[in-house]
Amino acid sequence: MRIGQSTDIHRFAEGRKLILGGVEIPFEKGLLGHSDADALTHALAEAILGALALGDLGHWFPDTDPKWEGVDSQVILWEVARMMKERGYRIGNADCLILIEKPKMAPHIQAMRENFASALETDIGNISVKATRGEGMGFVGRMEGVLAQAVVLLEEA
Ligand code: MG
Repeated sequence: MRIGQSTDIHRFAEGRKLILGGVEIPFEKGLLGHSDADALTHALAEAILGALALGDLGHWFPDTDPKWEGVDSQVILWEVARMMKERGYRIGNADCLILIEKPKMAPHIQAMRENFASALETDIGNISVKATRGEGMGFVGRMEGVLAQAVVLLEEA
């Protein structure tokens, strides 16, 4: 077994879509980034890279490469899933957390879990997604941005 973890942060911006866990969430603001800025998917993908000791997400998907500009981050997760399979591993389980002041994540959690389970070819019971607020404190509470974290356990396939 191998364990990995990651944190990702993206800033809120006007005129951008809010996409988290591959789900487009109706809201007045979105997240700024080179790709679709899906911090939750980035944290999960990078946690898998971490478990494989393959470095960070920016190494494999550099924001200087036009290939990844505006890309659906599920594509990045599929690519990381392929790398994981190639190296002889599968997901044991993943636990993902999004820190976001608003909007409410609860209505979208199930769809996020389905996206991750599908990309990683695992049972939805192996994928946890949770959300919490900043209670008005810090950059999350002030609505400046979001922070996402993921921990994964990989098993030999
Ligand atoms: Mg990111």
